[in-house]
Amino acid sequence: SDHHLVYPKTPDHMDWSTYFPAYVPDAGPIITSQPTETSLPDTANLYPKKLTKEVEVVDIGCGFGGLLVALAPALPNTLLLGMEIRTSVAEYVQHRIAALRTQNPATDLYQNIGCLRANTMKFLPNFFRKGQLTKAFICFPDPHFKHRKHKARIVSTTLNSEYAYVLRPGGIVYTITDVEDLHHWMVQHLEAHPSFERISEEEQDADPCVEIMKTETEESKKVERNKGQKFIALFRRLEDPPW
Ligand code: SAM
Repeated sequence: SDHHLVYPKTPDHMDWSTYFPAYVPDAGPIITSQPTETSLPDTANLYPKKLTKEVEVVDIGCGFGGLLVALAPALPNTLLLGMEIRTSVAEYVQHRIAALRTQNPATDLYQNIGCLRANTMKFLPNFFRKGQLTKAFICFPDPHFKHRKHKARIVSTTLNSEYAYVLRPGGIVYTITDVEDLHHWMVQHLEAHPSFERISEEEQDADPCVEIMKTETEESKKVERNKGQKFIALFRRLEDPPW
């Protein structure tokens, strides 16, 4: 159950400082003078301080964080966020990131990844403003085989509109699964959405993130061990049509 999950009221209310401490702006010069009666109220504290960069890449249902850890050095100037609903798994990823940062002191390595416990089927637009994201990964989502469970799938007509909202035109949704039926489902639902077009196989194969997604997530390794198949599809966020 996720009824005790907390969400920011708007993306401006989200405090990312504990997730990406290296990207918190410098505190600035220390002010030694005392506030006077005429000084203005500190309105800056109504909203948490913005980071020097925004999150641009999300891993939806990141599991144990293999993709984040592999993408961190591949996209060194980008903030990547894993979102995971299971508390213990999200905590595991947070500890994993903290350990990697400690093992790599004096470098920026792994400062650009974070993991948030969240239900991505709810309130994605509370975390990200319109057009904030450049990439969203959906790797080996739970298949929910039973027909009556299809509404629990992470790709659906409603959710695709949320992905379209948070992705900027030109942004990419990456999908991979070992369940062929789910692959067709995701292709069908994303292709049917007016904000998305499928990316050609050539362009797909040329994208270095595809190889990483194919080999580095924990689930992809499991499928590899079991000699299972992997079905991949990428979709580009299109420009909104003029009014
Ligand atoms: N992407 C990872 C990988 O490839 O190794 C994990 C795949 S695992 C089969 C699916 C993950 O999605 C699980 O860790 C599950 O807890 C998470 N998940 C399922 N529904 C979710 C939701 N609504 N919000 C966030 N995470 C979710």
